Amino acid sequence: MLFKTSEYVECLMVVEEAVRRQFEVSEQELENEAHGDADPLREKEHEVVPGLINKYGNRVLALLTTECAAYCRFCTRRRLVSDTQRGTVDRSHVDAWMNYLRKHGEVREVILSGGDPFIVEDDLFEYVLSEISGLDSIKVIRIGTRAPVSDPCLVNDRKLEIISRIEQPIYVGIHFEHPAEMTRATVRCIKNLRSAGAILYSQTVFLKGVNDDYQTLFDLFTGLIEIGVRPYYLYQCDPVPGAEHFRVDPEKERHIMTQLRRSLSGLACPNYVIDAPNGSGKIPVPLEFWNCDTTKYTDFEGSIHRNK
Ligand code: SF4
Repeated sequence: MLFKTSEYVECLMVVEEAVRRQFEVSEQELENEAHGDADPLREKEHEVVPGLINKYGNRVLALLTTECAAYCRFCTRRRLVSDTQRGTVDRSHVDAWMNYLRKHGEVREVILSGGDPFIVEDDLFEYVLSEISGLDSIKVIRIGTRAPVSDPCLVNDRKLEIISRIEQPIYVGIHFEHPAEMTRATVRCIKNLRSAGAILYSQTVFLKGVNDDYQTLFDLFTGLIEIGVRPYYLYQCDPVPGAEHFRVDPEKERHIMTQLRRSLSGLACPNYVIDAPNGSGKIPVPLEFWNCDTTKYTDFEGSIHRNK
C-alpha cells in the first residue's frame, strides 16, 4: 500500500501523536510486511463480478474505488487500497453490478465501500446511487467511509444533495479511531450528513498506541453519540501484512471493553467483535461478566478458531 495523506490529516498528525501513528509508515510496518494474511475476510473468493462481493446472500459489498484521502497503515484491504490503476471503477462496472443485482432479487442491501466512496467524482457517485436505489429489491444502502475524518471537504454539497434524494434509508458508517478526530470540521461534516437524511454509525479498530486504553475509547464513544453517530462495531485489528504492531492483546481488549460496558450508556456502547479469519462473520466477544473460555471460538459456519 502506498503512502498518502491529505493536507487535512497532515495538520492533525502534527498536533496529535495518535493520528500520526495511524498514517505514517513505520519501521515495524516494513519489517512485518512479509507476514500476515493479505485477504483475511476472504473477499476475493466471494467476488461475483469485478468489484462486487457477495458473502452473505442478502447483502453485497461494492468496491467503488481503491483510493482514499489518506491511507491507514492497518487497513484490512491493503492488498487493494492505493492501487488506483487496478481499482478504477467506471459506469461499465456499475452496469455489471446492476445486472447481477437484477438477477439476484434476494439481495436487499448494498454497501458501498472501497477505498473511500466519497473520493470518487460526483457524477459516478450520483450514477451508482441512482442506479442502485432504482431497484425495488434494494431496501437499504450503506456507505463506508473515513472522509469525515481524513478529508471532510470530500463530503461536498453535491454529494449531500444526491444522498438527500435517495428513497431508501442511507446508513453511513464512519471510521473513527480517536477522540482527537472529532474536530470542528468533522463535526460540521457530520451535521451536514445528518441534515441530508443519512443515518450515521461508527466503526473502530483497537490499535496499539492509538486507542488501547479505557479513557480514550470512553471519550471517543461518548463524543460520537453526542454528535449523532451511533457507535456500532469495535474490532480486533486484522492480521494483515505490516500491521502486526497495531494488534492489541485480546485479553486487554476484553478488559477495556468490559470497563466500557459498565460505564457507557447502551446506545454509546459498540459491539466488540472478532472478524473471523476465514471470512465467516463478525463473532461477538463475551465480556468479563461471563466465565468462559476465550482462547477459542466457533464462527458462524461452525468452525473452531484459536483466539490469537
Ligand atoms: S480509509 Fe478505510 S479503506 Fe482507506 S486506508 Fe483507511 S481503513 Fe483502508
